Amino acid sequence: MGVSARSDASAVTGKRCPRTTCAKRGVVQPRDAFHKDRRNKDGLESWCKACVRQYNEENKDRINAYRRERYRANREREREKSRTYYATNDAYREKALEKDRAYYRANREKIAAYDRERNQRNAEKNLAYNRAYLEAHPEKSREYNARYHARKRGATVESVSYERILARDGHWCYLCENDVAPNEVSYDHVVPLSRGGAHSEANIKVVHRSCNSRKLNRLLSELKLPFQNG
Ligand SMILES: [Zn+2]
Ligand SMILES: [Zn+2]
Repeated sequence: MGVSARSDASAVTGKRCPRTTCAKRGVVQPRDAFHKDRRNKDGLESWCKACVRQYNEENKDRINAYRRERYRANREREREKSRTYYATNDAYREKALEKDRAYYRANREKIAAYDRERNQRNAEKNLAYNRAYLEAHPEKSREYNARYHARKRGATVESVSYERILARDGHWCYLCENDVAPNEVSYDHVVPLSRGGAHSEANIKVVHRSCNSRKLNRLLSELKLPFQNG
């Protein structure tokens, strides 16, 4: 007694775990004692769940090493596979993002401490990397500096593209009303940040380097325009 009709029925169609160390070897076990495996005729793995678990536990290191090795050997394909899956499966992506967010919420301080520690450990490497990156991308460097200084002054900071500003203004300086050679191009905050101007494309115009340094932090109303060159 005490055995439900259902597990009774599955025990009839069940099978024995063949593993020599199985505690229930030789005993017919219910179907739900086995994981499913469609490759087998009866649709079940041959070892019972407990034996599979025990095997995996005992061979954890070997299994992990094998997985890592297989991943390394097919890295690009594996990455492509997960990228495609991630990109095409909205539900999966939403779930993954939510999991990330929950993890972040629960471990905010731990993550911050880890980031700090890692930044300290890699301080020199990061500095060299950043320097090389900014040297290779002068436009990014300019924008990065400008945003930093604008934020420090409490100015409104918008995303700015100097390429777009140059395309809009052309190589022409609005302060002296002359053409600007490519190596003389500079960008001026029309209303200076220190006077409440925004770091925005609307408030930035192409000028000569020399005109930029002549203008200082003055407003247009405080200047005698156009500047006379020379
Ligand atoms: Zn077993
Ligand atoms: Zn000029």
